Amino acid sequence: MKILGSDDHVIVVGAGLAGWRFAEALRREGYLGALSMVGDEPHLPYDRPPLSKQVLSGKWDVERTTLVEAERLAELDIVTHWGTAAVSLDPETASVTLASGRVLEGTFVVVATGTRARRLPFHAADHLHTLRTRDDVVTLRDSLSLLESGATVAIIGGGFIGAEAATALSALGFQPVVLEAAPLPLVAVLGTEVAEWLARLPSDVGVELRVDQSITDVVSAEGGYDVLFADGSRLFAGAVVLGVGAVPNTEWLAGSRVEVMNGVVVNDHLFAREDVAAIGDVARFPWRHGGERGDVRIEHWQTANDHAQALAAMLTRAGSETDVPIMVPYFWSDQYGKKIQMLGHPAPTDQVTRVVGSPDEGKWLALYSRADVVTGLIALNQPRGLMLSRGLLESDVTLAQALATAPWSV
Ligand SMILES: Cc1cc2nc3c(=O)[nH]c(=O)nc-3n(C[C@H](O)[C@H](O)[C@H](O)COP(=O)(O)OP(=O)(O)OC[C@H]3O[C@@H](n4cnc5c(N)ncnc54)[C@H](O)[C@@H]3O)c2cc1C
Repeated sequence: MKILGSDDHVIVVGAGLAGWRFAEALRREGYLGALSMVGDEPHLPYDRPPLSKQVLSGKWDVERTTLVEAERLAELDIVTHWGTAAVSLDPETASVTLASGRVLEGTFVVVATGTRARRLPFHAADHLHTLRTRDDVVTLRDSLSLLESGATVAIIGGGFIGAEAATALSALGFQPVVLEAAPLPLVAVLGTEVAEWLARLPSDVGVELRVDQSITDVVSAEGGYDVLFADGSRLFAGAVVLGVGAVPNTEWLAGSRVEVMNGVVVNDHLFAREDVAAIGDVARFPWRHGGERGDVRIEHWQTANDHAQALAAMLTRAGSETDVPIMVPYFWSDQYGKKIQMLGHPAPTDQVTRVVGSPDEGKWLALYSRADVVTGLIALNQPRGLMLSRGLLESDVTLAQALATAPWSV
């Protein structure tokens, strides 16, 4: 495995959390060679989680999401290319061609191009809002400023982004209506039992959730949009927000000898090729737990951060090539006035054992397990208990061992 030296030129493609945190960590680890960052957005690297929370609800100005200022990047001797996309990666050398036609000749490339919001082919597609970028949230807020207080805003998709958008819109005085295709939001991710507990949350704060929705089209109407349903009904909304998942940004890697399969396929060391690694939302990496091995792509803040730190350490510390970093997937979501947190990567069919609280109490903590091994932990408004239990996911722990030690109750 490659260890970087001062003759190297590392090109980081993608200036989101993973890209910036990697560049910062690489300098912290003592890397003295050339370092360039390429970002297709015109902005300095910024943080996305506040976009659907503090920024959409108007508590923060969007500038507050900035992760690093230009002066700091200059101090770290990082050459930046903002507002220009990488369009190709040479199959034989670590050279990256930019949309401007400029070619950056590198010795090692880090792919950190993340994902983009999925769009749907409705007639009014160009007018529907997504919530992925700084520009998205500014555009949505501009549209909302034209609506009357109490106006209906349709949110297509009841997942994490849809729920957070509904929470912020409700706080702003609008009437969000969440339209979910499945019988329960998040059922495909969290399984029926946990999804049922969470489905109680919207009504607690007066948000309408409609499940089993089959939307056939969204069309422009006077003063807004009509959402059309398969049963012939329609819903008029002043604005429509799409929260229907994300697509990895990998098209630019066509012909690069980097394997792409719903993300960039990497090995235990996050390498896609001898001179190319991938990190963050775009990376499809091996995840071993409970005797199982599978490749996963995880769209969570902590994973992007952990990948960045681990890769920087592996590329700079001789002898680290034998280490496989332990990364326990973690996410949080603030929705409907509650905090949801999860550790691990359970399957929706895993067994669920609730060990603290109950849905009626509005706080709980539950374990997921498969073949008697703990595969995940999920909590509602139980941050301390969840964090105390992280060790249950760092090695294979049986459900019986977890229940006997009960680290959440310490
Ligand atoms: C609204 C919102 C709320 C979220 N809330 C939470 C939360 O509460 N908890 C949680 O765990 N996670 C949350 N996340 C997820 C978290 O933000 C992501 O996991 C994280 O941003 C991933 O970082 P990344 O650097 O891998 O990708 P990204 O942040 O997507 O950054 C990739 C960057 O690369 C750029 N790029 C793409 N293609 C190219 C190219 N060809 N050339 C140059 N640049 C390119 C992109 O435009 C982007 O700027 C949220 C995400 C969003 C959008």
